[in-house]
Amino acid sequence: AMLPYFASGRVVTGFGRGGKQLGCPTANLEDATVSDLPVDFDCGVYYGFASVDGGPLNGMVMSIGWNPQFKNTRKSMEVHILRSFDDDFYGSFLKIVITGFVRPMTSFSSLDELVKAIDEDIRIAREKLTTDDLNKYAAHEFFNTPI
Ligand code: ADP
Ligand code: MG
Repeated sequence: AMLPYFASGRVVTGFGRGGKQLGCPTANLEDATVSDLPVDFDCGVYYGFASVDGGPLNGMVMSIGWNPQFKNTRKSMEVHILRSFDDDFYGSFLKIVITGFVRPMTSFSSLDELVKAIDEDIRIAREKLTTDDLNKYAAHEFFNTPI
């Protein structure tokens, strides 16, 4: 009922828990964006589309979960964009639309399991994201309003 969900904000530094080391960098959204989430928005892995600094829309897979940086008292929103970037984009303005749900949050007993789950999340997101939806949201007012 809450989807599609539109959100935007600056990219901040995360906990440095090794998104990049796991081959899955996640652009963390600023706290103000997280605070705007409806309180009953379920934690979990989602997919949708994202635009960096008004650039083209790309598929993304993201997590909404509890942030260990704040002793799990605050949620975090972490977006992995399904394309590669030459440079980091900390401080950039990120716009996203969340269009679908992949799975609830779970804890993994090993790093290997976590890496496998991330690969599977990315596979599912790629399967569910469609060009029709990409074009639809690329034309949406939200992504065509200057920052
Ligand atoms: P942090 O803990 O600071 O979030 P990460 O290891 O998760 O560190 O890396 C996230 C950073 O990597 C993002 O803020 C962004 O600047 C950069 N980055 C590069 N490629 C991507 C991508 N495909 N998706 C998301 N972030 C990316
Ligand atoms: Mg991150």
